[in-house]
Amino acid sequence: MDVLTPKIADITAEGLSLSGDLTGEELGLTDGDVAIRGTLAVGLDLRAIERTIYVTGVVEGTAIRQCVRCLKDFADPLAFSLRVAYEREAKSPNAVAKRDDPRKKKSAGPPEGEAEEQNDDLYYFTGDHLELAPMLREQLILAAPMHPLCSEECRGLCARCGKDLNEGPCRCGEEPTGSPFQVLRTIKDKLMDPRER
Ligand SMILES: [Zn+2]
Ligand SMILES: [Zn+2]
Repeated sequence: MDVLTPKIADITAEGLSLSGDLTGEELGLTDGDVAIRGTLAVGLDLRAIERTIYVTGVVEGTAIRQCVRCLKDFADPLAFSLRVAYEREAKSPNAVAKRDDPRKKKSAGPPEGEAEEQNDDLYYFTGDHLELAPMLREQLILAAPMHPLCSEECRGLCARCGKDLNEGPCRCGEEPTGSPFQVLRTIKDKLMDPRER
């Protein structure tokens, strides 16, 4: 797959644009990571500046997530931009020191305003091409919400009977014994009326 394994030689300072529709499978995603409906539209811009390859891009598609309140799967539109850097895997301690030089990083950012202060996530490559799939997989996992909600207004499940309250009220609220107010009132009544004891 060309889109996911661009050749280093093709990536220049002028940049290389890649785009494609990719399945979760092609990105190595399992349903345990993020379930994708259909394909993801991936558009990437790769630019080599000195020894670093900067990758910016946008990923759009639909994830299937489980709502934390009602536990139903729902289609969650997904769209995020990414900005990462690739460097050749260091072979010697010298190369490691070079990689951490902050001066270089500062002067060599791609021309994109919005995320200037954000540190690029750093990935490594070996050989003559980049492996973009593991990076995209990781970015998709990072972009997933911690507490997905099918809707901000999701009413969730009744803690007692488990009914999905989005489908209407359950009968728990109608039962007098379960209501804390009813319990209080009973106690109060007893206190007010000592004859009942
Ligand atoms: Zn829900
Ligand atoms: Zn209930």
